[in-house]
Amino acid sequence: MSTAQHAELFAPPAQFGSAKADSRKNLIGLDRAELADELKAIGQPAFRARQLWHWVYFRGATDFAAMTTLSKDFRAELAKHYVIDRPSIVVDSQSIDGTRKWLLRFSDGQEVETVHIPEEDRGALCVSSQVGCTLTCRFCHTGTQRLVRNLSSAEIIGQLMLARDAVGEWPSPPDGRLISNIVMMGMGEPLYNYDNVAKALRIVMDGEGIAISKRRITLSTAGVVPMIRRCGEELNVNLAISLHATNDALRDRIVPINKKYPIAELMDACRNYPGLSNARRITFEYVMLKGVNDSPADARALIKLIAGIPAKVNLIPFNAWPGAPFECASDEAIAAFSDIVFNAGYASPVRTPRGRDIMAACGQLKSESVRKRKAERGAPLPAA
Ligand code: SAH
Repeated sequence: MSTAQHAELFAPPAQFGSAKADSRKNLIGLDRAELADELKAIGQPAFRARQLWHWVYFRGATDFAAMTTLSKDFRAELAKHYVIDRPSIVVDSQSIDGTRKWLLRFSDGQEVETVHIPEEDRGALCVSSQVGCTLTCRFCHTGTQRLVRNLSSAEIIGQLMLARDAVGEWPSPPDGRLISNIVMMGMGEPLYNYDNVAKALRIVMDGEGIAISKRRITLSTAGVVPMIRRCGEELNVNLAISLHATNDALRDRIVPINKKYPIAELMDACRNYPGLSNARRITFEYVMLKGVNDSPADARALIKLIAGIPAKVNLIPFNAWPGAPFECASDEAIAAFSDIVFNAGYASPVRTPRGRDIMAACGQLKSESVRKRKAERGAPLPAA
């Protein structure tokens, strides 16, 4: 299936909104040009779009009445036609390590998860791009969820707006932001929903709004090769590749998109990713699966594969989920693997699992309702 067909098949509903059953349009997710068009349509001068932008994306206002620099009449007019909406929160869970996961619901009842991973002086928000995922990577829980549709730009940026509401970051503090980085590593394959992801990220990067720079945004893909270059040229964000295997036979099996875009093509796309330098590297993600891809020989094959690419390797201890057909590699195997990669000149950090107790770690996301429906049919619930 082409990526265009993909986008069409899995299109989100036209209008994003939470439970509000009214016909007013949500302003979230609109870019500057679209905001100006909306204002024109209600007979307002286009220059007011800039003021509105400021309130929506810099101040995080959700109520037109609070927009005190706008005239009363204008505010009333806006409230007649529009809302500034967030997705609704179904579950808000907090891990013992501070990781927080929201299960969010959209107007059509579909749900995704968003995860905040705080660190001492910064924090990342792991954002979803689709409801479910079509990729069916064997080690990933999200891939076992059947229903899939793309998220709209409103639904993508809505996750960030809601998280910033929750941590109280309107407007952005000058430094030490709790949400300083965005990782497009939640549910879904962002490069199968490129247009909506790109639109949302452009809003995120806008210097007069949320203003998170491209250096602090990472898009992770399982390897939608034809979209990688475009992502680099148009968005120029950091790229992460979910590699996980160093030969096609194994990668075909555990990351099935490899059958369509095999390793050699993927590596070519990585070598040609615009703007690469020593200061700007590709991250190769590699999930450590016991007896599958965790041997010293695998580590050496990995080094060969990425030779010449400014790269770092992120080793991810496998996070288990109920019924998962793999086990996590041993600490010793992970340390030995990391040493081999490091000694070849690549940073090779082992990703500390975060939020495992609330099923918020990499590969564990799957909306609660799906788990509940399974539980009703008699399948065991994950320990939370
Ligand atoms: N579809 C994109 C975005 C999802 S990112 C992609 O594949 O890159 C989610 C990351 O977590 C990916 O690197 C994925 O391979 C990894 N992952 C999935 N399941 C995992 C698990 N059970 N344990 C550890 N990492 C996992």
